[in-house]
Amino acid sequence: MRARGRAVRLVVAAALLATLAAACGSSGPADGADAPVKVITTTTIFADMVRQVGGDRVSVESLVPKGGEVHTFDPTPGDIRRITEAKLAFRNGLGLDDWLAALIEDAGTSAPLVELGTDLPGVTPLAGAEGSGEAVNPHLWMDVAYGSLYAQRIATELARVDPAGAATYRDNLAAYEARLSALDGYARTQLDAIPAANRTVVSFHDAFPYFARAYGLTIDGTIVDAPGQDPSAGGVAALVATIRAKGVKAIFAEAQFNPDLAQTIATETGATVVANLYTDSVGDPPQDTYESMMRWNVDQVVAALKG
Ligand SMILES: [Zn+2]
Repeated sequence: MRARGRAVRLVVAAALLATLAAACGSSGPADGADAPVKVITTTTIFADMVRQVGGDRVSVESLVPKGGEVHTFDPTPGDIRRITEAKLAFRNGLGLDDWLAALIEDAGTSAPLVELGTDLPGVTPLAGAEGSGEAVNPHLWMDVAYGSLYAQRIATELARVDPAGAATYRDNLAAYEARLSALDGYARTQLDAIPAANRTVVSFHDAFPYFARAYGLTIDGTIVDAPGQDPSAGGVAALVATIRAKGVKAIFAEAQFNPDLAQTIATETGATVVANLYTDSVGDPPQDTYESMMRWNVDQVVAALKG
């Protein structure tokens, strides 16, 4: 892990030199007063939130592409350009996307790097999965009320780097928070309809504890300890035993992971696979926003568990 990180940083340093050399030979577009604020995020979910809050005043890109895996993301030299031009960078923190700090350091940019999931007021953190290396589970946004806190922090930080847009950010945030609050209420109402006996599930990776706590499900296991790790035969056998013993109704498969193993375990146990849930990335339209992907997740889960 450490060796790989060093290799990436060397490659990135070489790419930076090439970028600087190219920049010296051209005048480049002026960074005028009306130019949108360039923002970089680690995931497409955070990029969408920045877009909702920032509107036309921002231009935002996610380093991890749609459907990509943030936990195991390996930055390429091509990522350096977007980082050097950014005025502001957002990552989740809590072990999800630590790689961005090294990348920013290597890029030599002074853009503030803001952690969306760290020290949020009103959040009760949950422990990370055993074997994941994460002390705190980083998937806070899977509780829509916490997602709204991310949006608040984004608005604060955008206003800090672009004070002229403060009123716009405040207004956009208010409208966005109202929609997220409605979505949170929708999730509670919809998941309320699931019978108590059907509320136990397992997931591919440990992305759902905050979702489960907010909306009344119980997570009884995961297929992998962490993305990028393969489950052992013993681990799968233990999970199958747990599913049978606890009467687990569903296995949450996630859009960015191959569903084959979830299918195999489902076939063996009689559990239902809830396919294509979105956790660490938005999907294709119409599931291409945080709001729509969470609504989709709620609807898929309810359809599978309502009985
Ligand atoms: Zn994840």
